[in-house]
Amino acid sequence: MKNISALRTILAIPKTIVLTSHRNPDGDAVGSSLAMCHYLKKLGHTVHIIVPSEYPDFLDWMPNIDEIVVYDLDKERVQDLVNAAEVIFALDYNDLDRIDKVGDMVKKTDAVKVMIDHHLQPADFADFMLSEPSASSTCELVYEFITQHMDDKANIDRKIAEAIMTGILTDTNSFKYSTSPKLFRTAADLVEFGVDDYLLQDLIFNSLKQKNLRLLGHCLHNRMEILEEYNTGIITLTKDDYADFDISRGDTEGIVNYLLKIRNIKMAAFIMEQPTIVKISLRSKGDFSVQKIAQKHFRGGGHRNASGGASFQSLRSTVRRFKELLPAYKAELTA
Ligand code: 5GP
Ligand code: MN
Repeated sequence: MKNISALRTILAIPKTIVLTSHRNPDGDAVGSSLAMCHYLKKLGHTVHIIVPSEYPDFLDWMPNIDEIVVYDLDKERVQDLVNAAEVIFALDYNDLDRIDKVGDMVKKTDAVKVMIDHHLQPADFADFMLSEPSASSTCELVYEFITQHMDDKANIDRKIAEAIMTGILTDTNSFKYSTSPKLFRTAADLVEFGVDDYLLQDLIFNSLKQKNLRLLGHCLHNRMEILEEYNTGIITLTKDDYADFDISRGDTEGIVNYLLKIRNIKMAAFIMEQPTIVKISLRSKGDFSVQKIAQKHFRGGGHRNASGGASFQSLRSTVRRFKELLPAYKAELTA
């Protein structure tokens, strides 16, 4: 593993660069990709962004977001871009299986690979790595990359700062968790670069459609189960719910967090029946690690307090299996 600061030499000459981020890209995935894209273009590089699946509507306002190439929509273009790349960045994910088939393409190229990420237990595929699980977001690390490793604060402008702030706001849910003195210093810098944090929060968090609130009501009223004995809450969604509420995966963003608003609830599970798999989103409070549960039981991972995974059984069996796990964690959940 080479020191990431050594990238400065490689990036001193114009390169063809591809930035990749994970499937179901969120604010941090898109924010870090756009921030790096704007920045690297300023340095004179040719830059493209690739994600496996479509980005959510609530990010539509972000400048240049429509230039992102989505693998599901244009597979050939993705293959051409990966083949042509001299440098490939992996942003906001820690293992090539998080970018689906694009991962196989990336594995085969001899492009220089750079990971900037904050997930636990990064896989070993990159030549350069800036991996800090203690960071709030990949966007926080992009700021560190540009200002410290590239020593290039002078090239940060408002557009870059807004993209970085977007990932920070979404991954910390407006500075509710994963905060640190360093994060607040970064945020202060971003505001000095002209970020209007009030406006940005309005764009990001007040952009729901009617159907999102109706879905939330349905989840809380009809689909929520609280297991007081284990300080755990569960919300499930069936395939029929997706059809009835005319929703797609991005529309369920954030619903899991409501369970943690109940006093004493330490773990929240949102279990969704999807066309071929059952997807699980886990959240927790304090020291209880949902990362362990996602990794051990649902082929997933993420962070201590926010993780995800999948199950290949029916929704009903998955929920049963999840409940059967709880006794083993009872001591931790009720401590
Ligand atoms: P979400 O519940 O919002 O889908 O994801 C929460 C966190 O868990 C994110 O940081 C995401 O990267 C991680 N995560 C979600 N699904 C998976 C998965 O299938 N595998 C792994 N390794 N991480 C996941
Ligand atoms: Mn992130």
